[in-house]
Amino acid sequence: MSETPKSIVVIGAGIAGVASALFLQRDGHTVTILDPRGVGEGASFGNAGTIAPTSCVPTARPDTMKRVPKMLLDPAGPFNIRWSYLPKLAPWLIDLIRNSSPEKILANAKAKTALLEHAMAAYNELIADAQTEDMIVRNGILQVFETDQGLKGMERDHALMQECGHKIEFLPGEEIRQMEPAFSQKFKHAVYIENHATIKHPGDLTKKFAAHFEAKGGAFLQEQVTGLTKAGAAWSVITDKGSHSADRVIVAAGAWSREIARMLGRRMLLDTERGYHVMLPQPDPTLRRPILLGDQSVFLVPMAHGLRVTSGVEFGGLELPPDYRRIRNMVPFAKRVMPQVEEREMSIWMGFRPSTPDTRPILGEMPGAEGVFFATGGSHIGMTLGPIMGKVTADLVAGRDPGIDMNPYTPDRW
Ligand SMILES: Cc1cc2nc3c(=O)[nH]c(=O)nc-3n(C[C@H](O)[C@H](O)[C@H](O)COP(=O)(O)OP(=O)(O)OC[C@H]3O[C@@H](n4cnc5c(N)ncnc54)[C@H](O)[C@@H]3O)c2cc1C
Repeated sequence: MSETPKSIVVIGAGIAGVASALFLQRDGHTVTILDPRGVGEGASFGNAGTIAPTSCVPTARPDTMKRVPKMLLDPAGPFNIRWSYLPKLAPWLIDLIRNSSPEKILANAKAKTALLEHAMAAYNELIADAQTEDMIVRNGILQVFETDQGLKGMERDHALMQECGHKIEFLPGEEIRQMEPAFSQKFKHAVYIENHATIKHPGDLTKKFAAHFEAKGGAFLQEQVTGLTKAGAAWSVITDKGSHSADRVIVAAGAWSREIARMLGRRMLLDTERGYHVMLPQPDPTLRRPILLGDQSVFLVPMAHGLRVTSGVEFGGLELPPDYRRIRNMVPFAKRVMPQVEEREMSIWMGFRPSTPDTRPILGEMPGAEGVFFATGGSHIGMTLGPIMGKVTADLVAGRDPGIDMNPYTPDRW
């Protein structure tokens, strides 16, 4: 319990905002979450649902310079840039290239690992509090490869994970059928990562966490933040429906957090790596755990309500309409490895990963805007990092040492 309970507004009801609200509430603060879309309707709705404490590999690669033209020209590749968005993305891309030296990649991976090491423990605290263990499958994940080249293509990622101290196991192809009887396809290689868990429905888990927060007296209001001004010692959070006075403000608005930074007169190199999914009917038999088809970069995830197929990254900002062609092209890969898959699209979705070019989260108090804390930038692993970002944020608000070097995550590092 904090000695001086405060009134706190959290902007954004994705996993980062809801987790921050829950940890702040534990300290006795009066917390209100604002979000115009409802709870868990942003990126936290449609992701692949893996809690992935070993996923330290940054987006930048030593060959990023070479990959960018390929991204632009390969219509079937897992990366896509919408041409009209390229001028706006340019500063972000240039910084991505700056972050692609082997030294920077290792430093950024280690910076993420410092948070990832505590990610599962922070999740477990929230899962226990909200009694949601039934929404989690603790069965690891498998990466499978049909070819030697497929495995070789991920060699650098695997080496980096091991260098950061994460345990991964290389399995011979024969073991895959025993682990995943649903496959008809034979694979040559597999990599098993045991300490990953899967959320059966990430949007629903976020909603259940929020329901627990409200049951304990927290407030959620469906309002959009349009301005932030300092009013004496407090902040005035202006919305489309009114305004709220707060001692502290937590910005957990995902890919939209850059707009909130702008309200404070700050520039942030936060953009979005857009991602897609298609939901198919649950195959019978289905998978026991998420599977990455390593040769095609397609991720198959058995969820509570069907099989989720996800793949790739699209750079196109927050405004351009979705282009579902690539993700639809991935569905036949699921059928190829499991003929029992019915290629009937139950739903299709696009979401906005909040991504920085160094793939380090944005976490901490904004210098010069005392009392405003950012908790965003989770990028490809934001569902994993949400709870630990929330826990660290509560520590910082309370003036406790989070036990993690916060320098790599400073919100004003640009
Ligand atoms: C296809 C795909 C697969 C993924 N798979 C995984 C995975 O397996 N594991 C993993 O860890 N991560 C995964 N991710 C990444 C993860 O989904 C995100 O990093 C994470 O959900 C971000 O959570 P968030 O709370 O920061 O943002 P969001 O969930 O996007 O929430 C931000 C919220 O802020 C609100 N907001 C915006 N502007 C305002 C405003 N002005 N006022 C008030 N509210 C506002 C929005 O409405 C939104 O609800 C995946 C992402 C995608 C797209």
